[in-house]
Amino acid sequence: MSLQISLNGQLVPKEDAKISVFDHGLLYGDGVFEGMRSYAGKIFKLDDHLDRLWDSARAICLELPITREQLAEDCKATLAANNIIDGYIRLIVTRGAGSLGLDPNRCTNPQVIIIADKISLYPSEYYENGLHLVTASTIRNHPAALSPRVKSLNYLNNIIAKMEGLQAGCVEALMLNHKGDVAECTGDNVFIVDRGVLKTPSTDSGILEGITRNAVLEIAEDLGIPTREMTLTRHDLFVADECFLTGSAAEVVPVVQLDNRPIGDGKPGPITKRLLEAFHKLVRQ
Ligand code: PMP
Repeated sequence: MSLQISLNGQLVPKEDAKISVFDHGLLYGDGVFEGMRSYAGKIFKLDDHLDRLWDSARAICLELPITREQLAEDCKATLAANNIIDGYIRLIVTRGAGSLGLDPNRCTNPQVIIIADKISLYPSEYYENGLHLVTASTIRNHPAALSPRVKSLNYLNNIIAKMEGLQAGCVEALMLNHKGDVAECTGDNVFIVDRGVLKTPSTDSGILEGITRNAVLEIAEDLGIPTREMTLTRHDLFVADECFLTGSAAEVVPVVQLDNRPIGDGKPGPITKRLLEAFHKLVRQ
């Protein structure tokens, strides 16, 4: 059976899930989205994702045409319709069809799309051996231009940086902010371990405030690992004992090299492994 997509509250086969070519989501990246995971049939941190979706929409003056309760129900119904227990959910709200001009007031019908599918996981070798990163020359969006805290459909900034990573043979690339400090990767937040302290760029570093990032900070506190949200530079990563990335799809993935330099002893570190194990326990609670 074909994948069932939720389009404005109606479940339709993927072939029939169509939106207008005049949709400003397509024409201008005008819209917001979320990427979520379901584990053992339950959507991980659904409330946090809905909070972030509403914040993103508010930041771009997009009024969501659905209640929070209904959207949560529709996400669960889409998972159920596709018999997905462990999977990935993409929640998208576009500005809707308008004219060819930019004016968002011409778009009167925002489109709500929910795609639930099997997750294509990173290969296990990434977790066993760790990733290599390069620093992209493309900086993360300046917060005064388009705040990285808005999870908007405009991901061109990250896509260009991702291309730089791929050209260098890396699946992820490190992005700096307009000040030259570490922001995040193209689709993941970044952490280091420095002499037993877990450090990650603060929200004012120009990052998306990742749901996994926040969960990992909480786990670390429960495990008695000191945490700091702060300004980090590339130097901090070069001299770190451990480094890892977090994201809904990647979960917690070790990083062992940045710009051809080994981080720590060049192998996934013990605190990274502890946090990954604790994260795996948390998601199945
Ligand atoms: N940063 C960016 C740019 C992302 O796209 C993502 C993935 N949504 C993340 C960080 C990680 O966020 P989360 O843990 O909420 O998936």
